[in-house]
Amino acid sequence: MAGRESAPAGAGAARLTVFGRCSPFPGTNGHCPGYLLEADGVKVLVDCGPGTLARLAGVLKPGLGPATGRPPTTRPPTTESPFAGLDAVVISHLHADHFSEALSLRYAIAADIRGGFRRGLLPVHLPPGPAAERDILAYPKAFELRTIDEGTPLTLGPFSFGFRRTNHPVDCLAMRISAGRSTVVYTADTAWDDGLLAWAAGTAPAGQTSRPTAVPDVLLVEASLQDASAHLRDLGHLTAREAGRFARLCGARRSLLVHLYPEFDFEVSRREAVEGYHQAGGDAPGRSLAAAGPTPGAPPVIPTEGETFQW
Ligand SMILES: [Zn+2]
Ligand SMILES: [Zn+2]
Repeated sequence: MAGRESAPAGAGAARLTVFGRCSPFPGTNGHCPGYLLEADGVKVLVDCGPGTLARLAGVLKPGLGPATGRPPTTRPPTTESPFAGLDAVVISHLHADHFSEALSLRYAIAADIRGGFRRGLLPVHLPPGPAAERDILAYPKAFELRTIDEGTPLTLGPFSFGFRRTNHPVDCLAMRISAGRSTVVYTADTAWDDGLLAWAAGTAPAGQTSRPTAVPDVLLVEASLQDASAHLRDLGHLTAREAGRFARLCGARRSLLVHLYPEFDFEVSRREAVEGYHQAGGDAPGRSLAAAGPTPGAPPVIPTEGETFQW
């Protein structure tokens, strides 16, 4: 069961820290997508949008950066970057709100390698395109770019990643991430997609791009829009009401609303998502495939930036 906690990750524990809950720009209510996965000493950053690095620094090198709820520790003075111990980055898609701070991260990693604080390049796993955006991440002094696609699973230490293409204007990959018996699903950016829902719920029929698996312990579901801006769904995003419906039909034990437009009234987003969650119980055929999920979860919530969840 996921829950807020602040203790260091121990053996068998996996943690998710949410650095940004907004997009497509950092604004009044928060920053852009960036999520840290930790288990068995392995640290993987998922997405690296504006606002991610300062908060990531505070987690990886306590005592620096914004408060994260973790107790500060004393460390000897060094000139290594806070990111020297980062094991990998996985980027859902090459829209700037999901990768732009990787352009600064490369300088820190290059300096760590040059100073002897890091042995090898940082693996950055990303979709194959668009080519122009991918090309500006090619920085051989720091990054080793590795292509991900929906047909190929990825293992990073204790984490097993599965990917599925979303309903978005560019090549965007939702992620199903397992560590031990626990699973996090991240929708990345997407408009409504029944196939994506089935995949997220773990009910996609065998023979498709994923095998039946367990319902997620934690769902990170994008909720970019509100009812009043629902006409913008063609941009490839969900309304909060749809995100709530997705969370209910997915059956996740805990659902977090992310990628909210930073200038919206979040109470409106939260209320519409909760309404969508409760309305989903008797929804139309085709969206009932997971309605009777084995472990009904709770209505979605908006996380606090820097909040950590054990899963
Ligand atoms: Zn986005
Ligand atoms: Zn996008």
